[in-house]
Amino acid sequence: MTNIIEKCVYSFFNNQAEGTATMKNILGGKGTGLAEMSELGLPVPPGFTISADLCEQYYKNGRILPKFLLTQLYEALSEVEESLGRSFNDEHNPLLVSVRSGAWISMPGMMDTVLNLGLNDRTVAGLAKLHNNERFAYDSYRRFIQMYSNVVLKLRSVHFEEVLDLKKQDRGVRLDEELDVLALKEIIEEYKKIVKAKTGVDFLQEVHVQLEEAIKAVFDSWMSPRAITYRKINNISDDYGTAVTIQAMVFGNLDSTSATGVLFSRNPSTGERKLFGEYLPNAQGEDIVSGIRTPNPISKLAETMPAIYAQIEQFAIKLERHYKDMQDIEFTVEQGKLWMLQTRKGKRTVESALKIAVDLVSEGIITKEEALQRVDPCSLDQLLHPVLDPKVKKDVIAKGLPASPGAASGLVAFSAEEAERLTKLGNKSILVRTETSPEDIHGMHAAQGILTSRGGMTSHAAVVARGMGKPCIAGASSLSIDYEKNLMRVDGHVVKEHDQITIDGQSGEIILGTVSTIKPVLSRPFVQMMTWADEIRRLKIRTNAETVEDIKTALNFGAEGIGLCRTEHMFFDPKRIVSVRKMIIANSLEQRREALNEILPMQRKDFVAIFQLMKEKPVNIRLLDMPLHEFVPKTEKEIQQVALSGRLSIESVVDRCKQVHETNPMLGHRGCRLALTYPEIYEMQARAVFEAMYEVEATGDVKLNVEIMVPLVVNEVEIRFLKNLIDGVANKVAEEKGGKLDYKVGTMIELPRAALCSDKIAPFVDFMSYGTNDLSQTTFGISRDDASMFMSHYVDCGIFKNDPFVELDEEGVGELIKISCAKTRKVKHTVKFGICGEHGGEPNSIQFFNELGFDYVSCSPYRIQVAKLAAAQCAVRSK
Ligand code: ADP
Ligand code: MG
Ligand code: MG
Repeated sequence: MTNIIEKCVYSFFNNQAEGTATMKNILGGKGTGLAEMSELGLPVPPGFTISADLCEQYYKNGRILPKFLLTQLYEALSEVEESLGRSFNDEHNPLLVSVRSGAWISMPGMMDTVLNLGLNDRTVAGLAKLHNNERFAYDSYRRFIQMYSNVVLKLRSVHFEEVLDLKKQDRGVRLDEELDVLALKEIIEEYKKIVKAKTGVDFLQEVHVQLEEAIKAVFDSWMSPRAITYRKINNISDDYGTAVTIQAMVFGNLDSTSATGVLFSRNPSTGERKLFGEYLPNAQGEDIVSGIRTPNPISKLAETMPAIYAQIEQFAIKLERHYKDMQDIEFTVEQGKLWMLQTRKGKRTVESALKIAVDLVSEGIITKEEALQRVDPCSLDQLLHPVLDPKVKKDVIAKGLPASPGAASGLVAFSAEEAERLTKLGNKSILVRTETSPEDIHGMHAAQGILTSRGGMTSHAAVVARGMGKPCIAGASSLSIDYEKNLMRVDGHVVKEHDQITIDGQSGEIILGTVSTIKPVLSRPFVQMMTWADEIRRLKIRTNAETVEDIKTALNFGAEGIGLCRTEHMFFDPKRIVSVRKMIIANSLEQRREALNEILPMQRKDFVAIFQLMKEKPVNIRLLDMPLHEFVPKTEKEIQQVALSGRLSIESVVDRCKQVHETNPMLGHRGCRLALTYPEIYEMQARAVFEAMYEVEATGDVKLNVEIMVPLVVNEVEIRFLKNLIDGVANKVAEEKGGKLDYKVGTMIELPRAALCSDKIAPFVDFMSYGTNDLSQTTFGISRDDASMFMSHYVDCGIFKNDPFVELDEEGVGELIKISCAKTRKVKHTVKFGICGEHGGEPNSIQFFNELGFDYVSCSPYRIQVAKLAAAQCAVRSK
């Protein structure tokens, strides 16, 4: 067996790096970011990255680091030592490193990092001498023991925090940095005792073992429960693993000329082009993220360290130009010198994503096509959702930092578990915590919004909420939360668990009770983005709508037609329902005609209203496809009404109801089947359509574009018969009114047989519209309404990759559609294809229909913008 030693360690120092941007898969986001910043000439502490491939090998190897890795690791480490003139484990001139995690995809705060590694009882003294600062050295050692114990030894941080808190009380100080050397030394001794008590061995002094153990811990953190949860929520694969970056430490906790901070090159909530972030003087990176102290806004750095601020601004511009996107940057200042520690694509709200993308186009950094790819189509949905009604009086009890926009009401939950429980019970909840940590992810996911009493705009709660698109208020310091009693006190108010509150992530206001909301105004960048999307997309976007109100909303959102107008939805009106019921239970042709004659003028009126709104835009009217059981009279009163109106006996109505009862209505006497047994039903509907067309075209001076769609067809005999019937009515109406009618007839393909035999059906239609809801139900043999009982289990276990009622099952249902299109095109190439199932508003499904050369997709009014952007992205990709 040959032993191929693969390269697995990639260095970066002195403005040179072995890794490049194309190696993100193996170096992770952090590793490539550091390598690229190094190459760009930015000040980056030297270091190296262990490939993520090793993570997989490590798991396969039974969690042991392979020999060849150790060889390369220590070679790279000695290069770092040389370049800095310091040595690992040197008691006079010690090199300290950080051991950092970083996967190809950014998972902020989800995995582990160890700082200040390389300290032990001997090197700490060296560090003190080297910087001539004993306090700093022991502060670093104290931090190291705590972090190492937590990350590597898996001891809970609370044990260590307790010691720290007690010591501060004992010395009568408030802040960590006010503790003197002696206090720190005492803390270290107590920390060591905890380690000994909990693990049975002394705190590890051998720095090389520390390093190897820390690397293993970082690899392990890839599979930590919180990392797994995060990936699951964000649909990220568990494959690949994390890289490990080992890098010389720089110290923001040396003195008051030192600091550490995180910032975004633009505002991640609004997109405003201005540095946005926070810093803490005399602190290490972790201090900011953990929310231990409330940090200063980055704008204050412009006053306290103007030269550093200017430099950061410059670097931010340089990085934005390099990455062509907004960056999320970590930095540390060590005694007046700036060091860059991380850069990555910044997470942002949709609103911010839109503004940044549009601005980057006008700044000449990206093209329109690139801008269109920068926004997740589904996220647009959030912007269409309501905001607090400004006219309503609000009982504001407190204010915090507006960390993530949007408004939400819900029941107060003081733990992630409770928020999750409430959601499962069908309640809305607001998760209220002093601060959140990665363990709370599942609760944040379940809650409508998040409220914390501590932490800043870059705290865990804020960052995660923005990523999830949920409202968040952070650092509402007037809240005092009592987890024991399950309540919080706010300015004299007591808010208990399960009390109703509202949070407004735009203003930071915390409000008692529920507040009504209104429709938001679409921002200029949003409108601009949609204009670009309209320019570039090929697919037309129609809507599924039948009520005047829905149609108006859809037109407002830019619907280009109606893809599905379900005529049975017009029958639910209480004024009509009696006539409809009469039609269903009619025993004879006369009875049915009588009922239909009552319905005809109402249907005509509906169609007139729709045609007047839609004008020349296509309107697809689906003839009746009625779930009979929903319309059959059930209560005594309903039965009486029908009997009275139809001059029938109660008994005969009851009898008829029994006759039309179906065991499985979904597969019963519905759709075109009803019209083949009772042709007068579709005759009436066709007449209503045609008469309405006459009325509108005669008075409105418009040329309508009407499509009549026959549902639930399985073979050519059905469609031939019904096409003839529709044409016959058209001729009759034309004869009565004079002139000629122009319309199209087509069918809905929603049963596997129809898909497989489309070439037989094709000669009789102008269009085919895929009813992917029913087509999925009948292909899978799963009733969508009953699927909820097992679907999430199926998806969780990977039996199904996705819920096929949300994302089209390309492999099965998609195959049927492909066969149907191909067979149709063979016999009649003029047939137009559309889709009217709910998949019409889902981006991945849209991609599929775009590739098949569909004419349009049709979706609910609120999905139109999503569909438009998704269609534009398809067009860009296919270029
Ligand atoms: P995360 O992925 O959770 O952000 P990081 O690896 O970025 O974890 O490290 C956490 C914090 O430690 C960051 O704020 C970073 O700035 C700081 N840090 C990491 N490496 C160093 C280093 N070599 N010197 C100084 N600070 C560091
Ligand atoms: Mg970081
Ligand atoms: Mg159907």
